[in-house]
Amino acid sequence: MVHEWALAEAIVKTVTSIALKKGIVRVRSVHVVLGELQSIDRDILKYAINELKKGTVMEDAEVFFEEEKAEFKCLNCNHKWGLNSVRELVNPDIKESIHFVPEVVHAFIKCPKCGSLDYEIVKGRGVWIKSITMSGEDRR
Ligand SMILES: [Zn+2]
Repeated sequence: MVHEWALAEAIVKTVTSIALKKGIVRVRSVHVVLGELQSIDRDILKYAINELKKGTVMEDAEVFFEEEKAEFKCLNCNHKWGLNSVRELVNPDIKESIHFVPEVVHAFIKCPKCGSLDYEIVKGRGVWIKSITMSGEDRR
């Protein structure tokens, strides 16, 4: 899928440019956080990163993924809830469309406590690099 490859490219570019700026010769590990509402195939992403990092300072780096669970917050009653507690998501088709376009979530989910449609997505969106472990820094 194009999505994962584009993401892998962005991750590798970001990590290698940070390493370059810091004069790092070797990146040891990279932790990437994936929001639960993003539609990302980890296997494809990992494969893509492993292909793209060849020949870079990231070549030997281990890549770890971590999922951030989605969290919604009702703006009417302040109730907070996650994807697991949403009854409507039992239907796999609906879950699929939410993963595809996170914004669609508003069409299917309402506050399980007060039924309000006025809520925000607090967590579970986006992809970001949480940490990078490097070696080659000369601190002496
Ligand atoms: Zn509510």
